[in-house]
Amino acid sequence: MAEEIYARTILNSFKEPDPWFGIKYNMNLYRGCRHQCIYCDSRSECYRIEDFSRVQVKTNAIDLLRRELPRKKIKGTIGTGSMHDPYMPDEAKYGMTRKALEIIAANKFPVHIITKSDLILRDADLLKEIGKVYAAASITITTANDGLGLKLEPGAPKVSQRFTAIEKLAKEGVLTGITAMPILPFIEDNDDNLKAIVERAKDSGANYILFGLGVSLRDRQRDYFYNKLDAYFPGIKQKYEKVYGLKYWCNSPEYDRLKKTVQNLCVKYGMPTKMPFYIPEEPQADQLELL
Ligand code: SF4
Repeated sequence: MAEEIYARTILNSFKEPDPWFGIKYNMNLYRGCRHQCIYCDSRSECYRIEDFSRVQVKTNAIDLLRRELPRKKIKGTIGTGSMHDPYMPDEAKYGMTRKALEIIAANKFPVHIITKSDLILRDADLLKEIGKVYAAASITITTANDGLGLKLEPGAPKVSQRFTAIEKLAKEGVLTGITAMPILPFIEDNDDNLKAIVERAKDSGANYILFGLGVSLRDRQRDYFYNKLDAYFPGIKQKYEKVYGLKYWCNSPEYDRLKKTVQNLCVKYGMPTKMPFYIPEEPQADQLELL
């Protein structure tokens, strides 16, 4: 059961679209996440969420979006935020993401959704509609192995369900890819895993794959992650401590070699390692005269 809260605003803007995901505006419809990934960055102190397993839903978010979006002068891609997954199980009840997509479609704004859940299939109709402007669906997959996925992302749908979701979205004509991040050092940063992800991405009809060969770690997030490493991966915490100390960016020790491996695999399978972004339309002549 989610706790219902009120938000003051819903759309945050970035000066420029971010270079990885092309996102210009961000909205967090929920706080907290049922997927409970053991590496989740949103446990960090800066997000000020004391109990990350408790989900809060911003019940007035849709009214806010309805007011805020038409006032945005610059058309840019809307992302579905951090601190939650837009298709975690609560979404089946509250439908906040679907209602937000309806408003985005009505305002003809572009959207990029990042999720670990096949519940996104429910909204394929809206993604197709928004896709006439621009819609991208990135499904996060960091291992091709269901059993390992269950240890790392215990509340999220199985990895195999996520590949099936990619296949179905791609068949519907939705721009669909994989965010393969974070690839966890000493657990997922091996040739077999990377090869399996790229091969299955290709088989599923993914349009792109974005790799992140490492993980960021800080304060409370690191503590939680290390506890889970002790529970499920004995001896791995000690490797992290030895190699990274208190570093924030923890790239794979084999980063350079694996980057080449990934590049070669993606060339072999014809899989782009960058996603296409929304390209704003050129203003028409009569619009220019008004400016
Ligand atoms: S799905 Fe995203 S927000 Fe949710 S726990 Fe996993 S990493 Fe965190």
